[in-house]
Amino acid sequence: MLIQVILPLPIKDKFTYEVPDDIPESIGLGTRVLVQFGRKKYYTAIVAGLDQRPPENYEVKKIMAVLDSRPALRYPQLKFWEWISDYYLCSEGDVMKAAIPTGLKLESESIVTLNPEFDSEDGVRLTERQSIIVAALQHAGKESLAGLEKITGLKNVTPHVNALLAAGVVRIDEKIVEKYRPKTVTKVRMLCQRDDQQQINEFFDKTARSRQQQAVLLAYLDLSKFLQRNEDLQSVDKETLLKVSGVSPAVLKAVADKGILEIYKEKVNRFDTSEDSDLHDVTLSPAQTLAAKQIRDSFRQHAITLLHGVTGSGKTEIYCDLIREVLDQGNQVLYLVPEISLTTQLTDRLRKVFGSRLLIYHSKFSDSERVDIWNRLLATNEPLLVLGVRSSVFLPFARLGLIVVDEEHEASFKQYDPAPRYNARDAATVLASMHGAKTLFGSATPSVETYWKATNGKYGLVTLSERFEGARLPEVEVVDMKLMRKQKSVKGIMSLPLRKAVRDALDGGWQAIMFQNRRGFAPVVVCHTCGWSPKCGNCDVSMVYHKGSQLLRCHYCGATQTLPNVCPACGENAIDKFGYGTERIAEEIQEEFPDRKVSRMDLDTTRNKQAYQDLIEEFAEHRTDILVGTQMISKGLDFEKVKIVGVLNADTLLNFPDFRSTERAFNMLEQVAGRAGRRQEPGKVLIQTTKTDEPVLRHVCNHDYAAYYEEELQNRMRYAYPPFTKIVNIFIRNKDAAVCDAAAVMLTLELRKVFGNRVLGPEKPFVSRVNTWYLQQIMLKVESQASMKKVKALLRQIYESLAPAPQIRSSQIHYDVDPV
Ligand code: ADP
Ligand code: ZN
Ligand code: ZN
Repeated sequence: MLIQVILPLPIKDKFTYEVPDDIPESIGLGTRVLVQFGRKKYYTAIVAGLDQRPPENYEVKKIMAVLDSRPALRYPQLKFWEWISDYYLCSEGDVMKAAIPTGLKLESESIVTLNPEFDSEDGVRLTERQSIIVAALQHAGKESLAGLEKITGLKNVTPHVNALLAAGVVRIDEKIVEKYRPKTVTKVRMLCQRDDQQQINEFFDKTARSRQQQAVLLAYLDLSKFLQRNEDLQSVDKETLLKVSGVSPAVLKAVADKGILEIYKEKVNRFDTSEDSDLHDVTLSPAQTLAAKQIRDSFRQHAITLLHGVTGSGKTEIYCDLIREVLDQGNQVLYLVPEISLTTQLTDRLRKVFGSRLLIYHSKFSDSERVDIWNRLLATNEPLLVLGVRSSVFLPFARLGLIVVDEEHEASFKQYDPAPRYNARDAATVLASMHGAKTLFGSATPSVETYWKATNGKYGLVTLSERFEGARLPEVEVVDMKLMRKQKSVKGIMSLPLRKAVRDALDGGWQAIMFQNRRGFAPVVVCHTCGWSPKCGNCDVSMVYHKGSQLLRCHYCGATQTLPNVCPACGENAIDKFGYGTERIAEEIQEEFPDRKVSRMDLDTTRNKQAYQDLIEEFAEHRTDILVGTQMISKGLDFEKVKIVGVLNADTLLNFPDFRSTERAFNMLEQVAGRAGRRQEPGKVLIQTTKTDEPVLRHVCNHDYAAYYEEELQNRMRYAYPPFTKIVNIFIRNKDAAVCDAAAVMLTLELRKVFGNRVLGPEKPFVSRVNTWYLQQIMLKVESQASMKKVKALLRQIYESLAPAPQIRSSQIHYDVDPV
């Protein structure tokens, strides 16, 4: 029998293999098989065809083993892979690599370890070969599959390792081994024995001067039944205590600081289904109810609908309402969020409504957790809700009824590198239509393309323009930094008005957020005698000074070097550091407000997920007063007490050299602004800039999406950019600059013959060398009505006709379809 398989490699075609007659397992589409490819390497491949005609140009090899008794994916997924590879111009192997967890695609290089959680007393019976493998691993610690074969002398260990994997005896070593942290609840207890009346009296004395502190104490005594000694002591959670006593977390903290109450965390079982007995209801406000109804109506005509709801309008609640209905009908739901929005704030909220029906798929999950979710979905048709990041579009859903794409404008839905360079938002609509499901996009700042489709009848459109409970959108003010400097009203990076606004907010018991889209301490390091400036050895960029680590760091490839004491070029002691990254800003603000707690959130302070969650939690509980951060802080976070948001330097946002720069600036400023004043108390946003007459700033001040959009659309039309054209960027990479340039020119000339002046370039991208690769870029802009199928077929043809040329052959060429 012959089969065609997809290999996890960037090769174009499916490959045909033979299934020997002595293999007993049945093979269907989606079954995993082990095959040899190349001289000594073997891979897990997916059966994607059952055509019995032998290929013409190569000899068919036999497969080595069948890894599944049942297919590891559902047939529609193969169709979806095909669409992705076709649309985004990559191989199905590229898609496979992104689509399935490592544990499901063993290959010779996969590293195997024993599972430390596995208990050999558990009575799992091992076959003789499995025991040999386990013994080898006990000895070696970890070993690649190829290595295991060498040590054990067994010919083909993979099927046995696969069985051990399924039994939980071994694991595939994971690069990202961060465990999702167990869910905890924060509780409060009193630091005193129940019968110690004297101590209790002392506690009352200690809080006598604050009515609020006494309120906490009384509420605690009541909730815990502390004084009813014939009853059991009740555990009190912090949330309830705050609600009942009506005080702020800061008051509770003050009581804790006095050694009266203790705030502590208690683990709860994340998949405990007993939670399901206590699920919360979704109660929508009248405006939300109306929006939800409009969405349902819209779905009757438009499979894809956009919910354009201002920040703080409660889009999450509306999603919950729709999701519940779909689950009740027995269908599954995918809820896609940008990675950065997948916070415990959101998961806790959804857990309360959906209990054990909620599954979470995060890229930082360990691979075994991802395999678990994969297998759970593969085995069931139950109505489940998957909350996930980009790659969760690849999960084996049985029957989707709805896909929600929250923050649809987010560029991070697009995978940039490596292939497949897909946009999960757009792929989601295709996936949904394959299931006959609906797609709901949500955003306060929809992308231009989406809004255009929504206003031209292609998508449905529902608008929600008020915040929940009538909270007002913040007042936005532009601070003219040129003027401020002239008036000598700038100290460090902060202008007087910003400084005062922050001080007033803090004095009033509020919090502040300071936004700067640059990490590190000083982005510019330069010798003031000769002009020398440190460049990365691998990339065409300057290095950024990081004070904490005292290193110069490349933000593209991560390379570091030490900061020289004297200039390496002229030998003078004349090296200066200019500019402001978040690190420096946090330091300056701390100096300005010495008795306030300042924290910083950027890539450097959140390398592990726990740190990110902790920073958010500390700020949400008002244990920090000022949060300094990069765009990370603008993403969907909901803090009650933020009165002031400062954008320290909007200039860098406003002069980015590409056609999306205005869109990006508007989205970012509007989203950052959305963090202010989310409850009754209106917030304020101050934007510091020298480019005060940029129109986009006016639109942010007025929160006027419509005006911004109209203006942006005019520009897109004038310069023929999306949505009026479709763009495919073609990147050429080579380690040799001259060859890179030559290949780019060659390719451009061929492209021009076919596409004429729709071809722009070649041109060096903004950063023209990354990680030792030189880059050239060609932009292909075609009319939006053109058949992309044809365009892509032509692109493939052109590439194939040039492929023999050495310049092309030694280069890496890839396509970026619909770049963001
Ligand atoms: P958005 O995503 O539109 O910016 P959120 O979903 O974050 O808004 O909602 C803003 C805040 O209002 C959240 O704290 C949320 O809990 C609260 N909220 C919104 N709608 C409701 C509702 N119907 N009932 C209770 N709280 C709500
Ligand atoms: Zn110098
Ligand atoms: Zn670099």
